[in-house]
Formats: sequence, structure tokens, C-alpha cells
Amino acid sequence: MDELRYQVDLLNAMNQKLTNDERMLRMICETSSSAFLYVNFKNDEVRMIANWDFFFPNVEIKSIKDMPKLFSQIEEEYAVPLRDLLYLERTGISTDTAIVKLIDGKTWVECEVSVVYDNTQKPTDKIIRFKNISKIKNQNDELTYMAYYDMLTGLFNRNYFVRLLADFIRKADEENRIVAVMFVDIDDFRKINDGLGLVVGDEVVQQFGQFLSDFKSENIIVSHFNADIYCIAIFDPCGNRSVEYIYKKIYERIRSPFFLSNGMEIMISVCVGVAEYPEATKSTLELINCAEIVMFKAKGAGKDTIEYFDAPILNDFIQNVTIENKLKEAVFNQNFTLNFQPQYYTHNKKLRGVEALIRWRDADGMMISPSLFIPIAEKNGTIVPIGSWVIEESIKTFAEWKKDYSDDMILSLNISAIQYKRQEFVTSILSIIEKYKVKPEEIELEITESVLIDNFREVVEKLHILREHGIRIALDDFGTGYSSLSYLKGLPINTLKIDKAFIDTMLQDDNAKIIIESIIYMVKKLGFETIAEGVENMQQFEYLKSIECDCIQGFLMGKPMPDKEIMKLLDELI
Ligand code: C2E
Ligand code: MG
Ligand code: MG
Repeated sequence: MDELRYQVDLLNAMNQKLTNDERMLRMICETSSSAFLYVNFKNDEVRMIANWDFFFPNVEIKSIKDMPKLFSQIEEEYAVPLRDLLYLERTGISTDTAIVKLIDGKTWVECEVSVVYDNTQKPTDKIIRFKNISKIKNQNDELTYMAYYDMLTGLFNRNYFVRLLADFIRKADEENRIVAVMFVDIDDFRKINDGLGLVVGDEVVQQFGQFLSDFKSENIIVSHFNADIYCIAIFDPCGNRSVEYIYKKIYERIRSPFFLSNGMEIMISVCVGVAEYPEATKSTLELINCAEIVMFKAKGAGKDTIEYFDAPILNDFIQNVTIENKLKEAVFNQNFTLNFQPQYYTHNKKLRGVEALIRWRDADGMMISPSLFIPIAEKNGTIVPIGSWVIEESIKTFAEWKKDYSDDMILSLNISAIQYKRQEFVTSILSIIEKYKVKPEEIELEITESVLIDNFREVVEKLHILREHGIRIALDDFGTGYSSLSYLKGLPINTLKIDKAFIDTMLQDDNAKIIIESIIYMVKKLGFETIAEGVENMQQFEYLKSIECDCIQGFLMGKPMPDKEIMKLLDELI
């Protein structure tokens, strides 16, 4: 009797434990947000466990032969991996997981299988777990997208472009082919962004990007780097995948406007720089750089154009970058000096005055010509402090000379367009003249035609104010720019400086003689004084004198020289 009671208690205790275990397992399954299929091979019975309805509502699987019902629940392309997994014990494949997408088009499910075998290697049980991984998968897809694509245009981004270009280059090496890179940049994009707003700018970038995306093919990669910059790589360019063909299509497209969603119509132009592998360089990144450098050359050549790489472009660029870097340092350390070149009256060879010319010896002791560094200083803005230094330093020096030399003489200063545009330009020059107590009539500001191109009216207004204060104005390098005599009439200038290029050719070329004679004749009629620049020999001098050019400046009469030498020259004249 006791024995029987003991057996019953034991059974009750075991039962209780089993119930507890089952509850625990059920809880674990249900909170795992997964669903399970349990397969019993002994009786072919299949049980659906936990969150089955979440994944496969209305699908009932009770035996192994019901399993194919699952295929109707997933997108077709995932059927094969799922089949391999569901019948793992038969297919014998080694992977025990597969990722499938449900027919709702958005739920991603990771299926994992585990089979138990007896000691004769016959399967006894199997469990398949279905886990919802949509969140991770979507985040992952987004990250992948962001890693490869540009969000604004949907084109490849810079990083991915570089990878694909490297593939093109490897292939070009193997097959002995060419890869061309076209660096495309919208002209004056800043004006669109600043003037019409970022939303408009973005839409232009998007629409133009969409147009470029039509060129995409197995052999053409189209990418958007950022802002208004696109890059296209062409493998083995030829026929309708040649640079010329693509540029022609781009050119045709931008002759008509882009219609924006706000009703606006916008016209754009672009500059394209082209560099080819292996001609330009052997490296992927450098190939892009070369194309970019060439694109800048196109911008400099007046925009709306295409330029092709050649070695001198690269050398110029490297030189400019080196100068630009050194220039900032030189401005900081004030590493400049001034030279002064004398100017003489032709009829009596008396000193008219001097032109101040800046000199820069860099840290390595190399003299760098102002013709090289002034345009760079104008681009990066350092011309402002450099120009102010030239004005103050030369007027200070001039004032020192004038303490002993009482005859009238003129100090000519080269002033850049950027300086004229500064609001404080007129007042600052007047205050320096006042500070050093020099006569305004003895100061002459040289302008070039380029100063007048962008801001004609504003500059002319300022010139009038300067003239009212007695300051003289000279037009420098006449003959190199537009050189139209008709517009000279409206300019408040005193002097016209004829460029050295004219003087160089005038004796050999009868046409140049006729031009120079008529310039001098007309200019005199307009009441301006004429100075010939770059006079190097007596024949030039005599000829200029014979046609009544008022003054000459050139190596014949005096090279640019330091302040001390000008002082000696003035001492001799006293
Ligand atoms: P520029 O104003 O036309 O100055 C005349 C240039 O011709 C000077 O070159 C001068 O040295 C050179 N030159 C004069 N006579 C002869 C000659 O007989 N033969 C030859 N071969 N050359 C002669 P530099 O000093 O190299 O200056 C070049 C240009 O740089 C200047 O041309 C001017 O546009 C600019 N520049 C010079 N100093 C300044 C400055 O302080 N500010 C600005 N904004 N520009 C400057
Ligand atoms: Mg000058
Ligand atoms: Mg000149």
C-alpha cells in the first residue's frame, strides 16, 4: 500500500514538473516573437508553435505533406532557399538558415532549422524557427543605400563611384583599353542657390542628375559627388559612349530650360573637364583629380565649355597651388618689397614719375613674378591686405623722397579690381594721402579694363570721386583687352598706357604701326596723356617720339629698382 502511494506521489510530482516546464517553454516561445514548426518524423506529425498567426495566418500545417503550403506565403524568388531548408535532412545542404520575404512585400523572415538524428543517422525530430528581422533588414538596406547612393539624385555617390572606377581601370589594364572621366560642374550654381534658395538649387541638381542618369549603362558610371558636381566614367569610350557624344547631348539639353515644380524655368550651363586613363595618370583618385583640374581650366576659359587634359595644365595647377599656399604665409609675414620703375617724358627725357611694382621672394629664395601671384591673390582674397600694404608703403616712401625733391612727380600704383569693389577703398586711399601729406595730383591709380567689366557703373562712380579729389587715373595694358576707343570717352581717366605687346611688334609690322599711330592721335584728341610700356631700344624710342607719344617706360630708360636707387637718381636731378 505504501509502495503504491509512493508511486502515485512520484507520478504527481513528475506531472507537476512537466506542466511547469511546458508553461515555461511556452512563455519563452511566445515572448521571443518567433514562430516554430515542430516535425516528428516517427508519425509525420507537425505542430505549429508560438506566434504562428503573425507570420502565416490561415495556414495550417499538421503533417509533413502540408509543408508546401508555406511556399504560397513567400515571394517567389525565395522559394528555392526555403525548400532547401524545409527538407534539409533530404537536400543535405550545409546552411541551416535562409532569409525570405513574405508576400506582404515588407516582412523579412529569417528561417533557422535544427534536425535531431538517431544513432543510425535517421532523422527523428526537426524544429524550424521563423524570426521577424524586418527592422534590422530595412535599416541595413538603408545603410547600404546610403553607402552607395546619393540621396538627392539617386545616382551613385562619390565613394561608390571611386570603387566602380577602380574596377573599370583594372579591366582596362587587362584588356588594354581606355577609361575616360568627365568631371561636370554647373556654372554659377552659387548664384542659383543664393539668389533663388536651396530648394530651387536642389531641384535643379535633381533634374540635371536625372538627365545624366540616362547615360548609365554597363560601360558608363554616372555619379553625383555633391552640390553641383557630377562625375561620369566611360569604359572604352567610342561611338555613342564617347566623351564627345555625351557632351553633345548635355550641351543640347541645357540649351532649353529646366521646368521646376514652383513654375519657374531655369537655364544652366556647365563646364566639363576630361581626363583619360592611362594617359593622364595611373591612379584612380588622381584621374578624378586631373579631370577636376581640367574642369577648373574650363571655368577660367569663360564657362559653358569642355576642356581636355594635357600635361601643361597639370603643371600650371601644381604651380598655382604651391604659390597659393606660400602666398598666405607671405601675407602673414609681410614678405614683400617694392620696386619702382621710372617713367620719362619723350620730348625732353625728364623724369615724369615712377610706377610701384611689388616683389616677392619666397621662403626658398625664389623670386615669384607678380604676373603669376597677383591673379592667385585676387582669387583667394589675399590681394586685399597685399594691395593695402602696397598703397601705404609706396606712399610713405614717396613722401620721404618728396622731402628733398621738390619738382612735381607722379607715383603710379597698380590697383586690382577686387580693391575697387571694397566699400572703404576711396576713403582709405584718401586717408593715406592725408596721413603722409602728399599731393593727390601726384598719385596715379592704374586700372585695367578687367576692372570695368563686372561693375562698370560702380567703378566709374568711384573713379569720379577720386578724380574730384585730384587723384589721377591711368588705364593700364591698353591693347590687351577689348581695347575699344569708343568707350574710353566715358571714362574719367587722365592717362592711357599702351601695352608692351604693341611696342614689341610695332617696328616689324606696318599694321601695328598704323594702329599705334591712330591710337595716339585719337587719345590725344580725347585729351589723355599716352605712355608706352616696355620700351627696350632706341629705335622704339625714336619712333614713339616721332609720333608724339607723351611718355615712355621701359628697360631702355630704367628697370624697376629699389627705393634707395630711386633716391640716388633723384639726388642727381637736384
Ligand atoms: P604692369 O602694371 O603693366 O607693369 C609693367 C610690367 O612690365 C612690370 O612687370 C615691369 O617690370 C615690366 N616692364 C617694364 N618695362 C619693361 C621692359 O622694357 N621690358 C620688359 N620685358 N618688361 C618691362 P612686373 O613688375 O613683373 O609686373 C607685372 C604685372 O604685375 C604688372 O604689370 C601689374 O599688372 C602687376 N603688378 C605689379 N605690382 C602690382 C601691385 O602692387 N598690385 C597689383 N594689383 N598688381 C601689380
Ligand atoms: Mg601697371
Ligand atoms: Mg601694363
